[in-house]
Amino acid sequence: MTRQLVVLETRTLSPSVQALVFACVDGAPLGHVPGQWVNLHVNVADRVEKRAYSVASSPNPAHPERFEIAVTRVDDGSVSLALHALRVGATLTMDGPHGFFTRERHATPALFVATGTGVCPLRAMIEAELGEVTGPKLALLFGCRSEADLLYREQYETWRSHSRFTLHVTLSQPSAAWQGLRGYVQTHLATLIDPAAKPHVYVCGLSRMVSEVRRTLKDELGFARQQIHSERYD
Ligand SMILES: Cc1cc2nc3c(=O)[nH]c(=O)nc-3n(C[C@H](O)[C@H](O)[C@H](O)COP(=O)(O)OP(=O)(O)OC[C@H]3O[C@@H](n4cnc5c(N)ncnc54)[C@H](O)[C@@H]3O)c2cc1C
Repeated sequence: MTRQLVVLETRTLSPSVQALVFACVDGAPLGHVPGQWVNLHVNVADRVEKRAYSVASSPNPAHPERFEIAVTRVDDGSVSLALHALRVGATLTMDGPHGFFTRERHATPALFVATGTGVCPLRAMIEAELGEVTGPKLALLFGCRSEADLLYREQYETWRSHSRFTLHVTLSQPSAAWQGLRGYVQTHLATLIDPAAKPHVYVCGLSRMVSEVRRTLKDELGFARQQIHSERYD
């Protein structure tokens, strides 16, 4: 079944990423589980192209028909460029929500690993879970190129007040002033994870990163396949 969306808001999150807030025109809830994605139908030249975008927001009780996505501008990509050009009031068609990359509740800690807009479904999952009074420890390991690419920075400042949440940012091309972690996400897994705590890891982003993280967890840290949950964007 397809539904109509209208753009309520656009925000620049980084030099290459634009957030879009949509409302379902029929006013009914989107009805997603954090981690799921929607399929957007976008007019490109004389044809309609469909692409998947993770929902970056958890269900909003006050406005269940609203949700947010964040789109990386891919220089030779048709749909991402068309989405970056959308303005408030524009309409488009979607189907969904779809997908099985959702949070399974375990008593053990969870580590969320992302690069770029791979953080979107993880943001929705963490936001929903921190709204609950009790639960396991949650850590986000976010890999970005530079400080300017750190998406949803203000959100993490808010989450820091939860004793259950920890943020680890690693930059591959930091400025000289950067004092935090450096390099790719997979190089930090061994120091951030205690395999004895039997954590679950949720990883999302481009395929090369997801494969490296999965390989490190299984081959070097002895993770079982059931402890690793992943979504690939390409
Ligand atoms: C389940 C799922 C969820 C997704 N969620 C998001 C999301 O929340 N935000 C988002 O920006 N994209 C997301 N994507 C990717 C998105 O569906 C498109 O592939 C992307 O926007 C490129 O589409 P395009 O038409 O602009 O480029 P295309 O012409 O389709 O592809 C151009 C090239 O871009 C590569 N590419 C795809 N995604 C990216 C990326 N993020 N960064 C750099 N290169 C990329 C492709 O491998 C391809 O080589 C998701 C994909 C999947 C499968």
